[in-house]
Amino acid sequence: MENSTIIKGEDIYNRDESSIMTNMLSLPNDLVIDILASLSASSHSDFLRAKTVCKTLNELGDNDFIYQIMSLKGIELVPWNKDKQQILLERCIQCHNSEAFYRQGMVDYFSDKGTSVDYLQKAANYGHAGALYVIGIISLFGDTESNKKGIEILNQNNLKGILWKCRKEMVLFIYMLWTNIPTIMNKDVVCCLNHNNYQKKWRFTWPVDDGDDNVECKACKCDRELDYLMSSLGIDR
Ligand SMILES: [Zn+2]
Repeated sequence: MENSTIIKGEDIYNRDESSIMTNMLSLPNDLVIDILASLSASSHSDFLRAKTVCKTLNELGDNDFIYQIMSLKGIELVPWNKDKQQILLERCIQCHNSEAFYRQGMVDYFSDKGTSVDYLQKAANYGHAGALYVIGIISLFGDTESNKKGIEILNQNNLKGILWKCRKEMVLFIYMLWTNIPTIMNKDVVCCLNHNNYQKKWRFTWPVDDGDDNVECKACKCDRELDYLMSSLGIDR
């Protein structure tokens, strides 16, 4: 089964169709599904092409697991028409694809009423770090309890060293959505009330890509993250 993870789209398309048929269809169905899943995890378009090779591959390619781990790279964030991409995204959501949950969560939160974090929470539950980051950031803007929760979230081990990456992803999505930042995020939030001077040390410095962990105070770390995030979004803090 592990061997399937090294099969890439180009390997399959470098062979002729009859050899694909002979090689793949002689394998047990579970293994074929595993191969198709590997394809879809690296490129949804390679997977969709494989599905068109024959009826059997088309049927085996209907497995939910394939849609759960499918890569959504190259699919528009908000397909405007009810076209194939939209149908594909909906199928991925039905199959609990964490990236599809994240995208839906970003659309719900930033382009609608700014209230529903349901899909972001689902994405985070399925291990999507970017979704966990956004929930952490949103929580910082809530009441004292929510702010505390946000500080804990942003200091979780699974976000260690990748805050910058999650921040860039969030900013990119917000720009792609052509949306207004929810009013709640215009509130001036200070997470650490103990280290005012320390906090100012990174003000006016360029956002770092790998130095997320050189701030010892958990709350100061969140203040610094908000500084970087807000400046990326063009909001004064
Ligand atoms: Zn502090």
